[in-house]
Amino acid sequence: MRNIVILGGGPAGLTAAIYAARANLAPLVIEGGEAGGQLMLTTLVENYPGFEDAVMGPALMQATRKQAERVGAEFITEDATEVALGRPFVVTTQSGQRIEARALIVATGASAKLLGLPGEGRLMGRGVSTCATCDGFFFRKREVVVVGGGDSALEEALYLGNIAKSVTVLHRRDTLRASKIMQDRAFAHPAIRFMWDSVVEDILGDGVVSGVRLRNVKTDTQSEHKTDGVFVAIGHTPNTALFKGQLEMDENGYLKLRERSLTNIEGVFAAGDVHDHTYRQAVTAAGFGCVAAMDAERWLQSQTG
Ligand code: NAP
Repeated sequence: MRNIVILGGGPAGLTAAIYAARANLAPLVIEGGEAGGQLMLTTLVENYPGFEDAVMGPALMQATRKQAERVGAEFITEDATEVALGRPFVVTTQSGQRIEARALIVATGASAKLLGLPGEGRLMGRGVSTCATCDGFFFRKREVVVVGGGDSALEEALYLGNIAKSVTVLHRRDTLRASKIMQDRAFAHPAIRFMWDSVVEDILGDGVVSGVRLRNVKTDTQSEHKTDGVFVAIGHTPNTALFKGQLEMDENGYLKLRERSLTNIEGVFAAGDVHDHTYRQAVTAAGFGCVAAMDAERWLQSQTG
């Protein structure tokens, strides 16, 4: 029986692990296939405090994981496949390990959303990507499109703008959701252009991507646009499928908290993007991880008297 099991190995989970380990609670982190979280898919992080010259996302997460390990956290690099929230809480992993815990911290984060088009699944990894940092290299001096109008889309476009020959941002409206500073950077970039009011109806290609079929929502006309790569950057879905029917969620699947990090089940705490759809920053996720670990520690103490 573990005192604390932490599900998720991104900034929230790892920070919770550091705090729980230093409180002598010997936490076990089930870090899953997406160990390190979304920062593993980024390059330079300029807004995480403490790094005068910015830091690479994966390097930041590797260092945080080592820090957690050094203070005593243990890790299982497998996905949890089942979570039963009776007492004690029981987590089952991919390989069939069954782990019992007194307290649980859910820090499973969020994953990239997809468009749901036939060509998207068929051509995923063959020109379709959700991660410019991971796959941008394959599109050197080629033409790519980025789908979306938020900060993620422009971040991808700016990254690709320095690799690809041209980057076309396809947005379904004529105004961006992205922050002003990202818009200014994207508008000023010579390799980036925009196609407004454009919905991708399908991704085309035999074997590899050759283009996209678009519909202009204002004129209701269809067109084909040639491209070598399609980067889908339309937001994220919280990783909460394991908790359906057990933990309270909002209509988008984000966990609903009672107060601080407390879920509707006593002894189950949540941290990071799995509940926070507002800030979604590495530094806020880390902060939420600290909050969850401290709440869990106090709750465990109240149980043992
Ligand atoms: P987001 O703000 O939700 O934007 C998603 C974009 O994709 C929107 O423009 C949306 O269009 C579009 N979209 C959604 N579903 C679509 C569909 N099925 N087909 C076509 N387009 C679709 O998501 P995000 O860009 O991932 O950003 C999430 C949060 O993280 C934001 O708070 C953002 O500020 C933050 N973030 C910050 C940075 C940074 O500061 N460097 C980087 C990344 C993310 P509509 O606009 O029409 O809804």
